[in-house]
Amino acid sequence: MFNLESIIRPNVLKMKPYASARDEFKGAANVFLDANENNLGSLAGENYNRYPDPHQNKLKATIAEIKGVNPNQIFLGNGSDEAIDLLLRAFCTPGVDALLCLPPTYGMYEVSANLNDVHIDTVQLTPDFQIPVREVMQSIKPETKILFICSPNNPTGNSIDPESIETLLDNFEGIVVIDEAYIDFATAASWTTRLEEYPNLVVLQTFSKAWGMAGLRLGMAFGSEALIAILDKIKPPYNINEATQELVLQALDKTEVLKDMVEEIVQERELLVQALPQLSTVEFVYPSEANFILVKVKDANKLYNYLLNKGIVVRNRSSLKGCEGCLRISVGTLEENQELLKAIEEFG
Ligand code: PMP
Repeated sequence: MFNLESIIRPNVLKMKPYASARDEFKGAANVFLDANENNLGSLAGENYNRYPDPHQNKLKATIAEIKGVNPNQIFLGNGSDEAIDLLLRAFCTPGVDALLCLPPTYGMYEVSANLNDVHIDTVQLTPDFQIPVREVMQSIKPETKILFICSPNNPTGNSIDPESIETLLDNFEGIVVIDEAYIDFATAASWTTRLEEYPNLVVLQTFSKAWGMAGLRLGMAFGSEALIAILDKIKPPYNINEATQELVLQALDKTEVLKDMVEEIVQERELLVQALPQLSTVEFVYPSEANFILVKVKDANKLYNYLLNKGIVVRNRSSLKGCEGCLRISVGTLEENQELLKAIEEFG
């Protein structure tokens, strides 16, 4: 049985969170002399001289409505990368505990593990990039506190079979993180609808992909209220800046535009999926539910450098085990995709 309290790092369990004077004060006031801000104003304009809301209440209330969860089930991070880091810091004791991840996958799980001195165990995805569930179960040790599953997976683009995920959620007594950074481009349903069922489930999403706000740095972690409270307790108090809170709040009104953009990107992705295999250097195009495509080519390094010389930057993934000979190509605009196809055709 999953027991949240038993996997919280002892120092995290004991510590008190940072509290500002504005947290303690509940009345009305118009003179704020508590936070050593510049009360004359801000060189950046607006009210940026003031610290942002550390609880991000407005933003969380609106996101909660859109995502159909309770605001207390949402953690907001400076990108979902911050949520990944805080999950490790909350649940994995340095030098003792471990996380398990399933390569080829997103690189930050490993970077965060190394940074926090958390052991990293890996189980390679199958050749069609699904989870070998039995092998994963056999790799779990008493020290394994977090299992990272990325779906749709970066860099492979496919969604992970929900039955495998369900088996792992049912049987693993640590936290299962499902990183859904690319969920808006997928036909698969989000796991946020299953939070009540699984107290060990954390779902990560981000405003960096479909929402087009990578520069603002806002990521989300969804989980049980108790689990989210731990992340909120240990986060830097002002991790989401005022400009980001304001701009994202405005953007949340424009879900219609989001839908149109996602449709266009998915349409462009499908055009690339059809066009790429016609080119002689392309050996295989992996099916994608994301806003990028993994493409196996005859000579990945050579094509990568050729494209670079043409001013086209793609991601060379050919040195990753399981992605040998592959480039990961983000879906661009119609014009960019045409330029890419033309360049690959000229490459021969
Ligand atoms: N998860 C995955 C799978 C990603 O590919 C990325 C970004 N490349 C992230 C998380 C991090 O996103 P953010 O910009 O929210 O930190």
